Amino acid sequence: MSNNTLNMTPELQQYLLDVSLREPALLKALREETASLPTAQMQIAPEQGQFMALLVQLIDARKTIEVGVYTGYSALVVALTLPDNGQVVACDISEEYTSVGRRYWEQAGVANKIDLRLAPALETLNQLIEEGGAGQYDFAFIDADKENYPNYYECCLELVRPGGLIAVDNVLWDGAVIDQEKQDPDTCAIRAFNKQLLVDHRVEISLVPIADGLTLARRK
Ligand code: SAM
Ligand code: CA
Repeated sequence: MSNNTLNMTPELQQYLLDVSLREPALLKALREETASLPTAQMQIAPEQGQFMALLVQLIDARKTIEVGVYTGYSALVVALTLPDNGQVVACDISEEYTSVGRRYWEQAGVANKIDLRLAPALETLNQLIEEGGAGQYDFAFIDADKENYPNYYECCLELVRPGGLIAVDNVLWDGAVIDQEKQDPDTCAIRAFNKQLLVDHRVEISLVPIADGLTLARRK
């Protein structure tokens, strides 16, 4: 027994997957196709996807936002769990990466729920606000360029309703957050973001040490 978060050895990680992962076949196929890309580590872990799907169900989400789509795994996970009239506004700048996702969204029959916006995410988020989207969204997932995390967070906080949830990915950044020799812009941005969130009393928070660290922030 331990009340410290366990070190996940490869064997314990495999056990976790063996006894809990219920990954639909199309998500597995998308993960396998993405694995052949040199950027595959950008994709979220499957157990994290399943956790996010559960969160989306728990809060009865219908309207959601994704900042950082890549090959579409997290968007697909969320779209599969949303009701028929659910929506994911999916923000990315890469036609190349997101075209992989589009194929799977079509095959899964959820392409109608995913509104892909190919533009810098800050532009899209500000556009949603201008269009009257403030307070209209239930869930947002932030997983794009790390230096913009504070900007994405501020926009998403405006866009989600009170009681809505923002999930922010990679907040442990492979452990680099505690390595003072790592002073690159991404690591510094994540450290600063984490520090800022601790004293942000507009939200309730929890940093969940799943995969690369996922902070949950619930708008009060
Ligand atoms: N959530 C994805 C998944 O589950 O596979 C992974 C997202 S990946 C870590 C980050 C993505 O952010 C990339 O696809 C990249 O093209 C996108 N990105 C980078 N800068 C961006 C920007 N300024 N606006 C929108 N998307 C951006
Ligand atoms: Ca990520």
